[in-house]
Amino acid sequence: MKTRTQIIDQTLEDHEATTGGPDAYSPIIKAELIKRLSEETYLTCSDFAHFGVKCCDAACESEPHYEMSDVILADDRHAWVCCKICDLLIRRTKEPYDDPEEEKEEKLWREAFGLKPDPVEEELHEAAITAKSDGQKLFYCLRYSDHKAGKQRGNKRLKALIPQFLNLPGGRPAKACIASVPPRSCGCCLQCGASIFKENLNSESGDHNCRRIREHRAQWKNESDRREVTETE
Ligand SMILES: [Zn+2]
Ligand SMILES: [Zn+2]
Ligand SMILES: [Zn+2]
Repeated sequence: MKTRTQIIDQTLEDHEATTGGPDAYSPIIKAELIKRLSEETYLTCSDFAHFGVKCCDAACESEPHYEMSDVILADDRHAWVCCKICDLLIRRTKEPYDDPEEEKEEKLWREAFGLKPDPVEEELHEAAITAKSDGQKLFYCLRYSDHKAGKQRGNKRLKALIPQFLNLPGGRPAKACIASVPPRSCGCCLQCGASIFKENLNSESGDHNCRRIREHRAQWKNESDRREVTETE
């Protein structure tokens, strides 16, 4: 459990860890978080560690202020979580589409690349949406998460854990999930996969101002500094 101030401070700290300090993007992150975090306290991903679901290390990590979700749990508490935990909490086993056009586009794109729907995924999705009880539904959703993460956890072992899970945070299906409304994106970052917005471009280099690229850049800088040192020796 974290307070909104802790979440804001931690997010900015993570951002600035690789930039070396506040930059032009810091106030944008802060303003978005202030706008989105209206509760005093939130459960966070670590409060759902009992489920053994791996957190998102792509978009939600690089643009947490836009990508993290505010989930309203069955007991009305709020959770501030990444997409992987959000999917589980709201029992989502299929990517939602904002509009039918997007779904059509995705279908065409899949066909063009010869990508077939994953039969295991389809089967688990079907089982999850037709499940009769909270326990059953949770079981299929966890199997879905495991499958997506390439994780092997025996059915028997998982089934034995369900009664316990039902009484822990996230054990009952969440009521709602509040996502952000980010600005219009102008493509995807090849390094981190997150959406690129005018606001999150590095004003000097024109690159996506994400942790991946900042870390790469810091590494290059280190290496070239080292080279300069050895060359002048
Ligand atoms: Zn997470
Ligand atoms: Zn994510
Ligand atoms: Zn990026």
